[in-house]
Amino acid sequence: MSDTDATTETDHSLRTPIVAVLGHVDHGKTSLLDRIRGSAVTAGESGAITQHIGATAVPLSVISEIAGELVDPTDFDLPGLLFIDTPGHHSFSTLRSRGGALADIAILVVDVNDGFQPQTLEAIDILKRTQTPFIVAANKIDTVPGWNPNEDQPVQATMEAQSDRVTSDLNEKLYEIIGELSDNGFSADMYWRVQDFQANIGVVPVSAETGEGVPDLLTVMMGLSQRYMKEEMEIDASGPGVGTVLEVKDTRGFGTTLDAIVYDGTIRADDTIVVGGLHGPIVTDVRALLRPRPLEEIRTEQEFEQVEEVAAADGVKIAAPDLDDAMAGAPIRVVRDRDRDEVVAEVQEELAEIAVTTEDEGVVVKADTLGSLEAISSTLEEEEIPIMRAEVGAVAPRDVRVAETAGEPTHQAILAFSVEVLDDARDLAEQEDVKLFEDDVIYQLIERYDDHVTEIEEAQQ
Ligand code: GDP
Repeated sequence: MSDTDATTETDHSLRTPIVAVLGHVDHGKTSLLDRIRGSAVTAGESGAITQHIGATAVPLSVISEIAGELVDPTDFDLPGLLFIDTPGHHSFSTLRSRGGALADIAILVVDVNDGFQPQTLEAIDILKRTQTPFIVAANKIDTVPGWNPNEDQPVQATMEAQSDRVTSDLNEKLYEIIGELSDNGFSADMYWRVQDFQANIGVVPVSAETGEGVPDLLTVMMGLSQRYMKEEMEIDASGPGVGTVLEVKDTRGFGTTLDAIVYDGTIRADDTIVVGGLHGPIVTDVRALLRPRPLEEIRTEQEFEQVEEVAAADGVKIAAPDLDDAMAGAPIRVVRDRDRDEVVAEVQEELAEIAVTTEDEGVVVKADTLGSLEAISSTLEEEEIPIMRAEVGAVAPRDVRVAETAGEPTHQAILAFSVEVLDDARDLAEQEDVKLFEDDVIYQLIERYDDHVTEIEEAQQ
């Protein structure tokens, strides 16, 4: 944030580190998040866990309640951890902030029985590219023969207490994971052997099913964040807020709204904000800041309650006029006492930074969020496939018209990632022989396009 107003007092404090969960399909990402949330609700004093939009905040007091002897709250001054509720690469790429990933730290979930799989490797690539520190949750230990859980103590203690004979199966699987990490350029170790986190990556055995290892996992994350991320968590706690759009959606009674994560400063119910839109920055006045009502309070149709202020790091639903063009993954900045044009220029600049280079000749790419658009574009760039148009939004007839003008037959194509294809666009594509590729997995989308190119090239020979 620029310091334009010398009279503005800054209120330095530490925000909650933002945690994302990645991993191969079915390895237990959703179950692990549910388990962490469940443990937090059980351990927390009533009211300690508030309902959130897009993310769940687990305060330090609750973490230390769950972790028991593993976490002494007086050792920490970070306020807790904020878990992004939607696991997976897709949301991870959407969760961009200026200069990289919005998540400060990630949990890479690996099924101990299944080991590294294609999406595990893909996740590692993304984590490397965004330089996001991560921890491996070696999940489903309850299914490993010979593992005898002890529900009253941390996995660490159980692992240490059990004889080699009992844990050898699990040990073998954990060392396979450590080997895979090493093949990918990371030094790693089991977390209870990691002294002062000197290994790059800690591997924590867990079971999302039984909850074993969750205290250990929270402990390692808190320890890592406190040791290595404290400085990055320093924010101007009462300054004008900065955030990222998670989702643009209709909310009954409020029209088009933004689900957003605020990662610096505050946003207030009477603020003017600037949001990244399809056609440039949108300047609008907040109409309401909304949070889900606690379940026991939802009586009638009033699912949300209004709040006056939200402070980083937290999730919130923002209602405001003129949000129809807002894009998921786009920046949000509060104007407040700053110069409005300057804030607009910052958002403009941030939108321009998103690395999508368009050429006079190439394919058309449509994606659901700025982050996914950026990820697809960089992959295409690596393969030297030029892009003529890259935009967030549904595939419309005008996209087909653009694709049609491509000179190279291989470029008369539209790559649609997680977006709707309008019926008239589909008809037009068929009529004009523009190839349409649709997928929800980036590498599959590009693979299918590559296969098509190979086919054309072979036909030409
Ligand atoms: P995701 O696709 O990575 O989000 O995986 P899910 O959380 O949906 O889990 C996939 C399947 O594995 C579900 O049937 C879960 O019940 C199961 N599962 C997840 N974690 C565990 C675990 O720790 N132990 C066992 N036994 N099953 C698990």
